[in-house]
Amino acid sequence: MKEKAIVFDFDGPLIGSGQDKAVHILFSAFVACWDTGFRVFLHPENLELDLEKMVKGLINYPGAPRFQQLSAIISCIVRDIPQAIKDPSELKIDENLQKEYQKLKERYNQFYSSLNDAAAKLYWKPLDGIKEIIEELVKDYDLYVASGIIQEILEKDFNHHGFDRKIFSGIFGSNPAGDIDKAKILEKIKNKGYKDVLFIGDSKKDFEYAKATGIKFYRIKTATDYKKLMNEIKNGLPNQNEICEFTEEELETIKSKVISLMKFYVQGKNLSFEEITTFINTGKL
Ligand SMILES: [Mg+2]
Repeated sequence: MKEKAIVFDFDGPLIGSGQDKAVHILFSAFVACWDTGFRVFLHPENLELDLEKMVKGLINYPGAPRFQQLSAIISCIVRDIPQAIKDPSELKIDENLQKEYQKLKERYNQFYSSLNDAAAKLYWKPLDGIKEIIEELVKDYDLYVASGIIQEILEKDFNHHGFDRKIFSGIFGSNPAGDIDKAKILEKIKNKGYKDVLFIGDSKKDFEYAKATGIKFYRIKTATDYKKLMNEIKNGLPNQNEICEFTEEELETIKSKVISLMKFYVQGKNLSFEEITTFINTGKL
């Protein structure tokens, strides 16, 4: 065991997926509502309104386990409160709809996973130069992955992108129940007794997880960010004390993609997952 450790979030810092996940989350949440009893809360004549509500849930829980994230978005749709729930009864909806929540979760899960699979296959790639950077860092630090992705999917993705497992001291994801989050994983790593731990993430939630655990944080979204990190790290593990989730510009891009997809869906345009991801990544249908 080395004295210090660096923990990577997977999506973002290792695999460049741009803003795709945010688009997938919002659109999948919309589809799950539309295809279940939760359609009663939507406004097909004013989809912009639904999107604005959903965005509030998204920006409060990016990087959180998928069902926690979803519940915050649904809470926004139903009662305009951007807060995750543990049980649908908290939404104060009638019993039939409470039962329907399970169906909504399943639809979301299936749609979101399929979108991610299609995008991962066609568009998501490891950040430029990341494997060389990992080889450099492992000389001085124990390396880990801590992700909100379900363990089994995380390991599949990790192998698919050709990362070398032997370099890492641990690759930790979430569980299907969604009760293991990055904070728990970071805690576990910190408790191994390192002198110093840095978490490299890309979201505000990641930042909060690091702060809650009492470890350092550095945000990486692009290969250029790594250049800065590699420079700063010569003086010890760096630490950032504030970050904002999305820039205004990023949010506008996300919203413009999602609203188009929502309109297609309401119009009954039947797009495959490959077509959807191509639209998100190239703007072409
Ligand atoms: Mg991430």
